[in-house]
Amino acid sequence: MHTLADAVPEPYWLRQPGAPPATDPLASAETADLAVIGAGYSGLWTALLAKERDPSRDVVVVEAGTAGWAASGRNGGFCAASLTHGFDNGLSRFPDEMDTLERLGRQNLTEIEETVRRHAIDCDFARTGELHVATAPWQLRDLSAYQSAAAERGLDVRLLDRDAVRAEVDSPTYLGGVWDRDGCAMLDPARLVWGLRRACLDLGVRLYENTRVDRIEGLAGGLRLQTLRGRVDAPRIALATGAYSNLLRRLRHYVIPVYDYALMTEPLTADQLATIGWRHRQGIGDSGNQFHYYRLTTDNRILWGGYDAVYYRGGRITTDHDQREETFRILARHFADTFPHLADVRFTHKWGGVIDACSRFSGFFGTAYSGRLAYAAGYTGLGVGATRFGAKVMLDLLDGGRTELTSLKLVRSKPVPFPPEPVRTGVIQLTRWSIAQADRHDGRRNLWLRTLDRVGLGFDS
Ligand SMILES: Cc1cc2nc3c(=O)[nH]c(=O)nc-3n(C[C@H](O)[C@H](O)[C@H](O)COP(=O)(O)OP(=O)(O)OC[C@H]3O[C@@H](n4cnc5c(N)ncnc54)[C@H](O)[C@@H]3O)c2cc1C
Repeated sequence: MHTLADAVPEPYWLRQPGAPPATDPLASAETADLAVIGAGYSGLWTALLAKERDPSRDVVVVEAGTAGWAASGRNGGFCAASLTHGFDNGLSRFPDEMDTLERLGRQNLTEIEETVRRHAIDCDFARTGELHVATAPWQLRDLSAYQSAAAERGLDVRLLDRDAVRAEVDSPTYLGGVWDRDGCAMLDPARLVWGLRRACLDLGVRLYENTRVDRIEGLAGGLRLQTLRGRVDAPRIALATGAYSNLLRRLRHYVIPVYDYALMTEPLTADQLATIGWRHRQGIGDSGNQFHYYRLTTDNRILWGGYDAVYYRGGRITTDHDQREETFRILARHFADTFPHLADVRFTHKWGGVIDACSRFSGFFGTAYSGRLAYAAGYTGLGVGATRFGAKVMLDLLDGGRTELTSLKLVRSKPVPFPPEPVRTGVIQLTRWSIAQADRHDGRRNLWLRTLDRVGLGFDS
């Protein structure tokens, strides 16, 4: 497609000026009170909160690449209050806990906003809310049910008919929508990472980038992280490696690496933006099983992503998968269908990244090595906000006491495991096909999807 011809094959956010120079890799034997593996949001929030809880705690973070190079620096920047990958998913899986989870999720988002302010993190945080739009009649039914259930719980969610939603953002594909007015913020994901990284360093966290942890070994009274040229011994470890589950065997049953793709347009002119409105600058998601997410940047580009979540045979993670021309062409076509007035707007960047998907779509938590290691994973494409909650959970688990968070069913339960390969690949491809069929046939779920729904096993972007 001509609009893709000049797109640079790299994440827009990580290409911006302002990336900090990498720290030196680890090349010595270190000790710490807490060692964190991974410097995405999950690891950085864990280190920051650990320091904020106890400034005297000696915290080391070890990162295989540079902070935020993976999912955390290349996502859509939707920072949602939801801890459960959306209200409907939470209500279906944790109905008795939903009020608490919503309260904790909103509190988490507010605390993120306060942290951004307190540490002067320049990441364009804007609590615009999110517009969920229906592009097929069956989606209207689902959105209406979601709006009533959410409004009953006192959430500020408004049902918009076709005219009202098109008055917000004008697309001929919109049939109606729900505007969640304060449950989501838009932010610049890479600059959030860089800001959290700086805040950690300012508080005395020691960070070693370009240092892969090769294995974890038990020691008397603690654990050892072994790297190529050094090691860290610590009584407590937080494992925050996202989709990279190889350090802890049990995670492989629960986490699969799924690739998600996005495009960024050139900045729109004022006239181009005026053709679609979008004065409130909300994040937008459409409501099919395969959905797009899109948003404006501060300089009025449109980030356009989602729809085509891809699991590669055998669950291989490689930078080769960060580019997928077939998906970029689909995304570009859907963009032009959604905004015909902008059909000639050019894309400047195209990229993909790996998501830590699990079968219940929302993060799960646990400990290993007799409680000396805590992990959080499985955010399934909605971890920008929820990883901070997960960081608090990991710190509570490592402290050992029972807290409000560690008592939650969300925290105490695990997703249904995925079957091993090669069955896993077959199950996922069949599920993808069925999901696409459901979207084409009025949302009707076939026998396969209904069976998966019954056992709580899902696949989603
Ligand atoms: C294209 C895309 C769009 C997305 N859009 C959104 C969105 O709009 N909103 C949203 O909420 N979520 C979104 N997500 C998901 C979100 O980005 C993730 O949920 C979140 O970033 C996960 O953070 P994390 O720290 O757990 O993982 P990551 O950011 O993946 O960080 C894990 C880190 O661990 C390191 N690591 C792994 N193994 C080792 C090892 N052995 N030794 C040392 N370090 C190691 C890695 O190098 C990596 O830096 C999106 C994801 C993608 C890919």
